[in-house]
Amino acid sequence: MMHRAREFLTSIGACALFALANATSYGQQPSFHVLALYSTHVEPDHVAFAQQALQFYAAAAAKDDFDFQPSTNWDDLNDATLNKYQVVLWLNDFPHNEAQRTAFQKYVEHGGAWLGFHVSAYNDEDTHWPWFVNFLGGAVFNGNNWPPLPAKVTIDDTASPVTKRLPSTYIAPANEWYIWRPDPRANKDVKVLLTLDPANYPLGLKDIIRGGDLPIVWTNTKYKMIYMNMGHGDKIFTSPTQNLLFEDSLLWLAKRP
Ligand code: ZN
Repeated sequence: MMHRAREFLTSIGACALFALANATSYGQQPSFHVLALYSTHVEPDHVAFAQQALQFYAAAAAKDDFDFQPSTNWDDLNDATLNKYQVVLWLNDFPHNEAQRTAFQKYVEHGGAWLGFHVSAYNDEDTHWPWFVNFLGGAVFNGNNWPPLPAKVTIDDTASPVTKRLPSTYIAPANEWYIWRPDPRANKDVKVLLTLDPANYPLGLKDIIRGGDLPIVWTNTKYKMIYMNMGHGDKIFTSPTQNLLFEDSLLWLAKRP
């Protein structure tokens, strides 16, 4: 019996060592977990963006060694589910009820990270969620250009981990660009990362953006969060340059202490 027990223990030890070696050499443990929430019943151009974003981030997950879970169930905004994730993405929609809002607020106030795209930050006088407006840096939707158009963008801080692989300016693929008022740059806690270049004005045909300071990517430094205005249509991921921003934003949010 003793001999058999020793054999058994030896084989367990070998298995454990093998598993450990495997995990170490092949990176089987994802370094962090990402939940990507989206909806399929929203504006078709926003669904198209979400579908491409899922493909983009699934590929990034394989490359950068993180776990990526898409979900159309916004009730995943609850304490038990959110506890499993370091970053939550809102691709094309936002919470639908008070319970979802409350769970999300608790999550980011306790160190959870958020990366929101385009319409996910939309809010107006009917939204009635002052906490979120504050989280966003005070920005309320004020207008947009139409149709979606490419635009020259400038990088406010090329030393940031989020933008360090970007040139100081590039042409962003066609997007519906939003105007926000008040200007989030006016908030001392907001760090603007990318801005629409004034050279674009007037931007649009039916709806025209004629001027003004237009931050398009920013972070409220009181939270682990980044909002980016990109997210309309099926052209967003056609810029290898801009794709670096999408990848590095997520990695920065996930790896901040
Ligand atoms: Zn849109």
